[in-house]
Amino acid sequence: MTARIIDGKTIAADLRGKVADAVHRLKRDRAIVPGIAVVLVGENPASEVYVRTKSKAVVEAGMKPFDHKLPAATSETELLSLIAELNADPAVNGILVQLPLPAQIDTQKVIAAIDPAKDADGFHPLNVGRLASGLPALVPCTPLGCVLLAKTVHPSLAGVNAVVVGRSNIVGKPVAQLLLAENATVTIAHSKTKDLSGVCRSADLLVAAIGKPEMIRADWIKLGATVIDVGINRVPGEGGKNRIVGDVAADAQSVAGALTPVPGGVGPMTIACLLLNTLRAACAQNGLPPPAI
Ligand code: NAP
Repeated sequence: MTARIIDGKTIAADLRGKVADAVHRLKRDRAIVPGIAVVLVGENPASEVYVRTKSKAVVEAGMKPFDHKLPAATSETELLSLIAELNADPAVNGILVQLPLPAQIDTQKVIAAIDPAKDADGFHPLNVGRLASGLPALVPCTPLGCVLLAKTVHPSLAGVNAVVVGRSNIVGKPVAQLLLAENATVTIAHSKTKDLSGVCRSADLLVAAIGKPEMIRADWIKLGATVIDVGINRVPGEGGKNRIVGDVAADAQSVAGALTPVPGGVGPMTIACLLLNTLRAACAQNGLPPPAI
C-alpha cells in the first residue's frame, strides 16, 4: 500500500482563498476590514520568520496587519499595557502574541490578559473551557488545521477511533477536544502511556504531536489508517545543513492509507486557520453570523 499524501499546501491555499473571498464580501457589503495584531517580543529567529510569513498571509487575505515588534528586554507590565491597548482598539479583531516569550514575562498572565473575543490563537482559558464544554469558541490554529486535514479523508469523523499522541495545551489536548466534538472515539497518549505502539496500532486516525523525530514507525500504524503528523523536528542533513522531519518515519507511507507530509502538511494549515479565526472573530464582534466556510 502507498499512502495518499494529504497535500496541506493546496488545502491551506484553498482555505486562504475562501477567507479572502469572505473578507472581500465583508469590505464590499459592510465596510469591515478584519484586523489582526501580531506581537513579537525579542529576536528568536524562528519566531521572526514565522511572524513575517503570518503578516504576508494577513495582507494577502485582504486583512489589516498591526505588527508590534518589541525588544527582548520588554517588561511584563509593558506587554500587558500593549495588550490592553489592542483589546480596546476596534480596528483590531484578533490578537496573537508569538510564543515563547522571554523569561521575565509570565506567559499565562499575558494569555489571560487578551480579550477572549480577540484570542486568535484560542489559548485563553475561557476559550479552552468553552471548547471543552462543547460551546462555540475560538480554537487553536494548528489543532483546527489537523482536524480540517483529517476531514478531507473522513468527511464524518463520527465513531472513528482516533489516537492523539501528545497532550500539550497547544496541540495534543485541543486536537483531542476537537475530535471529540466531531464524535470521534478519542484516546490521548503521552510519555507515560503503556504499550504506546499497540495503542497507536488501534487507531483509524493517528495524530502525532510529540516533537521526537520519526518516532512513529510503520509497524505502529494500522493498515490503511490516516496519519496526521504535527511534528517539526530539525535533524542534521546533507552538507552540514539541517533538514526538517516529522514525528512519523518515512516508512509509514507503506502502511498508512493517507498521511500528511512534513513539511507541507499541518504547517501551512496553521496560518490559514489563524486567518479563519480572525475572520470569525471580526464577524462575531460586529454582530454577524459566522462566515460560511
Ligand atoms: P510539547 O509541548 O513538547 O509536547 C509533547 C508531547 O509529546 C507531550 O505531551 C509529551 O508527553 C509527549 N511525548 C514526548 N515524548 C514522548 C514519548 N517518548 N512517548 C509518548 N509521548 C511523548 O510539544 P508541542 O508543542 O505539543 O509540539 C509537538 C510537535 O508539534 C513539535 O514537534 C512541534 O514543533 C510541532 N508543532 C507544529 C506546529 C505546526 O504548525 N505544524 C505547531 C505547533 C507545534 P508528556 O506530556 O507526558 O510529557
